[in-house]
Parts: sequence; structure tokens; C-alpha cells
Amino acid sequence: MSKGQILNVAVNVPLSRLFDYRTPEGASIEPGSRVLVPFGRTRKVGVVMGTSRQTAIDDDRIRPIIEVIDEAPLWRDPELWLLRFTSDYYHHPVGEVVGAALPALLRQGKALHPTIEMLAASDAGTATCVEALAKRAPKQALLLETLLDAGGDGLDADTLNEMLPNWRRSIRPLIEKGFVTRFESRAPDYDDRSFGTGTPGPELNPAQSEALETMRSQIGFSAFVIDGVTGSGKTEVYLGRMQDVLADGKQVLVLVPEIGLTPQLVSRLRVRLGIEPALLHSGLSDLQRLASWRAARSGAAHLVVGTRSAVFVPLADPGLIVVDEEHDHSLKQQEGLRYSARDLAIARAKHLDVPVVLGSATPTLETLAHCRSGQYRRLVLPHRAGSAEPPRLKLIDTSRTPAIDGLSQALLSAIEAHLGREGQVLLFLNRRGFAPTLICAGCGHIAECRRCDSRMTVHARHGQLRCHHCGASRPLDTSCSECGSAVTPLGEGTQRLEESLRRHFAGRHIMRIDSDSTTTKGAMDDALAQATEGRAHILVGTQMLSKGHHFPNLTLVGIVNADQGLFGTDFRCAEKLAQSIVQVAGRAGREHRAGDVLIQTAYPDHPFWKTLIEGGYERVAADSLSEREQTRWPPFTRLALLRSAAHKRDDAHRFLEHARQLASRSGPAAMRILGPVDAPMARRAGRYRAQLLLQSADRGELHAVLAELRPALENDKLARKVRWSIDVDPVELF
Ligand code: ADP
Ligand code: ZN
Ligand code: ZN
Repeated sequence: MSKGQILNVAVNVPLSRLFDYRTPEGASIEPGSRVLVPFGRTRKVGVVMGTSRQTAIDDDRIRPIIEVIDEAPLWRDPELWLLRFTSDYYHHPVGEVVGAALPALLRQGKALHPTIEMLAASDAGTATCVEALAKRAPKQALLLETLLDAGGDGLDADTLNEMLPNWRRSIRPLIEKGFVTRFESRAPDYDDRSFGTGTPGPELNPAQSEALETMRSQIGFSAFVIDGVTGSGKTEVYLGRMQDVLADGKQVLVLVPEIGLTPQLVSRLRVRLGIEPALLHSGLSDLQRLASWRAARSGAAHLVVGTRSAVFVPLADPGLIVVDEEHDHSLKQQEGLRYSARDLAIARAKHLDVPVVLGSATPTLETLAHCRSGQYRRLVLPHRAGSAEPPRLKLIDTSRTPAIDGLSQALLSAIEAHLGREGQVLLFLNRRGFAPTLICAGCGHIAECRRCDSRMTVHARHGQLRCHHCGASRPLDTSCSECGSAVTPLGEGTQRLEESLRRHFAGRHIMRIDSDSTTTKGAMDDALAQATEGRAHILVGTQMLSKGHHFPNLTLVGIVNADQGLFGTDFRCAEKLAQSIVQVAGRAGREHRAGDVLIQTAYPDHPFWKTLIEGGYERVAADSLSEREQTRWPPFTRLALLRSAAHKRDDAHRFLEHARQLASRSGPAAMRILGPVDAPMARRAGRYRAQLLLQSADRGELHAVLAELRPALENDKLARKVRWSIDVDPVELF
């Protein structure tokens, strides 16, 4: 037994436990603070999760911490609760939860408000002749010019790293000549410019007002679901509630799937609320992200907008959490700590006793089931706001008149007609690259990835075959590796579609938007601006184009190939297909002109189409819910998926077989255990993958089994040969 304060510290290692350390004589350290601790033969940054008077460890074996990093705790009680809850619910080591929740610089042990290295041109540097310098030392001249452009405040080292990656090689002589000074400065804060009261929005229609009034009538925690067709004015309703909360002096946290895809939402919030939001997303530098995090924690930022990990941001005085596009799978982290930011937002709001609002035109069946049971309150906006009409959906049967390079005659004529009336056209195809496969005309051999059980995608422009699962690439074959015959690309990707459109519509401005065309910084923003202003006549793209955008001139949406989704093996396939079609269809006819949506399918008689076209997403969702109830899939049961991957197939399976035995020993009879089986893609990036599915109608039961399973597996020697994970409430079953 030990005397004095014992710290229970979360350390970022894959072990489900806290580590005990001793406080230095006379010090008192509060939970939520970071400490530097000795760990084995290294030192690590940890976060104090709690303190105790006693520990099971012998007095002489318990080690003291090395130092306290934070003057005041980073997180307070409600946030520490969230971290513990996340660890318990997802059965994930608490140290890794804390690691995932911290911005990178804090995870590395940097100060909450770090000092940074700054460089600026001196008076002598300003006076010198850059052209003369450029003749002798062009790199020095470039660096000096960059600093001169930045003005008297200079630039920080991180920014310079981005602008001129090799700047450090040229800085010494510039400092020695006295042209540049180096100094330290405190990292800049989030810019809390607020510009007055903002701009008023449109007068709310009756459905919007009713939704807003219902939210206003509730005090404390409530989960609201704004279920409104695309363009029904959901955002206006959130805005109304945000204004109330901000006027009360409280903070609003908005979670969005991907900020890069929704610059329109951010600028709309800025303009309407008159506040500069503190942003948290992966497109920012580490320093910028830290500045937003600090401002959220201190309360300097009233409006915080971020992607999924922002659910963990400390908030000084939270009053409302909004989750936009709650159906979007980007809100679920799919590796490492596999959490749903939407579900954690609800748990957090409940713990804080503040309202949470989920919005979507296509709510998930999980959310709809919670509405039915009365746990969430559903607020329906049945019509498009203003004068916009709902888009009209029609099928094009490609079994009789096949599409050539992805385009049927009927679709081509429709494009022609819409362009003729000055309408903009969007073609949706969820496959990037030129063609999804390369096939041999002689023997039918298909080019496959050597490291995955998957086909290689043809990227014609780069003369490459690429694997979209592991990133492998190789030169495009010119003849079959098996028989030597000619090979041809089979099927369409967005690049092939783009080429084919250029042939048909020469002289039109055609723009492709997918992850290949938007790799450079700012490319996505540029593309979206061109699309919004109507400068691009035809847009071709993947689901990146379907999310939340508002293109005023867009009147025709063509869905090039929807058939993949009709025959999926996943129990969510109808839900997912309906969501993606309704979301992309919702881009059409958002202003004064009605929109058309044409869907190419070789299976026009499939019952899914009748349900969708006649009953909309709502009917698809209702039918799927009944089906899931009968077949006992979520939301009527709960799932957890154990995954393993190893260089030998046997190892991956043996590990899960062992897990199965442990689970069936401790598990109640009502729990179903399916597997272990090969994953749908059994080999990926050279590793064999297997999975084991645990299913139960009782969440408590399932969690009790997982709580026993996790530590048992962590300590098992079979685990050393595999990479394994537990995915609670998985959204992808592969
Ligand atoms: P959603 O979030 O449901 O897609 P938005 O809030 O973006 O819908 O609204 C869609 C469009 O309709 C926007 O251009 C918005 O300015 C406009 N709008 C929203 N509410 C109203 C209203 N009550 N009257 C007129 N126009 C509205
Ligand atoms: Zn062949
Ligand atoms: Zn591969």
C-alpha cells in the first residue's frame, strides 16, 4: 500500500487498463491533466483519468511521474466521462481513446498554447536587392522574397515547411547576413471575429416554424430528428435553434461528415450567424486545429464546426449539438477506435442535459427506429422550401437499349435537351478511374491485384492498373498475361464517362469531381465554385458530388449505373442504395426550375424501383424496417464484429475460433455467434482476413460478453500473430 496521491493514468497503448503513478511530494494534480510518465524504458504522455489513495502495487514499485505538462486540466468531468464511456461502449483501450481525442500536438506533449519558431525579413533584408541575390544564391533569394511578401509579422516554421519544404538549407546565410531574424512567438489564437448580428434568413414556412417551436418547448436533453426532403429547409431550422442558444451565451457544436465537401454550409453559418466558426478537420494545419480546440475549451469560440473527432472537443459552456447528414458513413470511424460520432453526440448531449439535433433527408433505420420507440422526437419537413418542386425520378431500361461507354441514347437526348434550356447536368457514377476491370478478349482472364482478392482498376491517362483497396499499381498490360491476346477495359469509371461526354458534347464545359481530380489543395473548392456559379455545364462525379451541395442551375441528374447496389449481400444494401440515389437526386431543381432524375438500370422490374419511385425513401425505409424485424437484423438486434488479419490464413482463423470459444462459454444462450468466416474480401494488402459476428437482441448481454472477451484476447498469445479489432455497431460488414 502506498501513501500520498496515486494517479490513474491513461497511456496511449493497446491495453485496456490505467497505469498507476505517484505524484511528486506536495503536488496535487487534477484529473484531465497531461503528465509525462516513465513507461518501460521509454517515457510517454498520459492523461490523468482519476486519483486514488491506494493501489495494489507495492510501494517501492510504483514510479513517480516525470512532470506535469498542463497547468490546468485539459478536460473537465463531463468530458472525462465521455472518454470513459467511449472506451466502455466500444470496448477499446482508454489510452487509445484519449489519444484519438487529443489534437496531434497535444498528443505529442506540446503545451496547450505552444511557442512557435518565427522568421521575418529584417530592415536590412527589406533594403537589399533581391535580384542581385538571386544571381548568386537563387534559393536564398526565394526564401527572402517569401518572407518579404509575408510582411513584418513574418512566417512560422510550419507554414514555411508547407511553402518551401527545403527552406532550412538556405536560412543560415540569410540570418548571418542580417537579412532575416528568428524569434519565438506564442502560437496564434483562433480568430474570434464576430461581425454583429448576422443576416436574417427567409421567413420560415409552417412546417419549419412548427419544428423550431417544438424544439424550443423542450428544456434540457432531447434528441430531435429533422427528417426533411432535400431542400426542405432543415438548415434554416437548425439555424433558428442555434441563434437562441448563442443568444443565451452558450456554445454550439456542429458535426458534419466531411468539411471539404460542404464549404457552402460553413459560409452559410458564418454569414447568417455573424460568427466565425472554429473549425476542426483534417484539412487544417496542426496549429490551426489546436487553436480551434483551445478556443472551444476556453469558450472563446461560440460556434464549433468539425468532422467526427470534434465530438470529443472540450466545451466550456455547451448548449446544443447538431449532427448534419446523420446517415453519412463518414461519421463512423472505420479503423482504430471505431466509433460513431453521431451516437457519441447523443450520449454526450444526454450527459450534459442539452438538446441534440440530427438532420437528414434519408435518416438511417437505426434513427427511425428510435423515433418510433419515442426515444427521439421526429420533426418532419415534407416539402421543399420556397418555390422549388421535388425532382421527378424515371428509369431508363438498359437491358434493351444498352448504354455505350455508360451513356444510353435516352440519357444523351435528355442531356441535350437540358443543356439546350440552359440547365446544368450532373452525372453520378460511384466508380473512379477509367474502367473497373481489364479483360482478355481471348480467354476472359481479368487483371487482379496480387495482394488483394480484387480486380485492378484501369487508369488510362496514367497508363496504369491500380488497386483501390491497397493502393498497389502497375503498368497497364497491353496483352493478356495468360494467353497473349488483346485486352480491353470493361465497364465504366468516371474518367471514361468524361471522355465519352467530351465526344458527344464538344464545346461544353465538362468537369469531373472525384478523389483523383481533387488531390491538390483547393481543387475541390475551385471545382465546387465553378459548379455553383454554373460555369461547368456537365458535372461527372462520385458520391463526393452528392453531399449537401446547392447548385442553383442544376436541372438534370443522371445515375449512370445503380445496379451494383441492387444485389448486395449486406443487409443494409437497400437502405444504402436509396440513400445515395435520393441524396444525389436532391441536387436537381433546387431553385426555380423543376429537376429530372434519370436512372439507368438493366433491371427495371426489380421491386426496389417501384417502392422508391412510388413511395420515396420513406417507403423504402418502412419496408426495410419490417424486413429487418423479421430477419432479426439491426436495429432490432445489436451487432459486434470481431476482425482479424494475418499473413497466414490459419492464424487469422485460429484467433477468432478461440474468441468464439471464449464468447460461447461466457455468453448467454440467446446470443448468436456467426463464424469465423473469411471476410468478403478475404485477402487485402497481402493479409488474410477473417471475421466473427456476435449478435444479440439484448445490448446489455452483448456488452457483458465483450467486456470479458476484450481483456482475455489482449492477453492471449494467439493475438500476437494477428491484427485484430472489435467493431461495435459496425456499418460495414467487411
Ligand atoms: P436542406 O438543409 O433541407 O437541404 P436548406 O435549408 O439548405 O435545406 O434550404 C434549401 C433552400 O431553400 C435554400 O436555398 C434556402 O435558402 C431556401 N429556404 C429554406 N427555407 C426557406 C423558406 N422558409 N422560404 C424560402 N426559402 C427557403
Ligand atoms: Zn487471355
Ligand atoms: Zn490490392
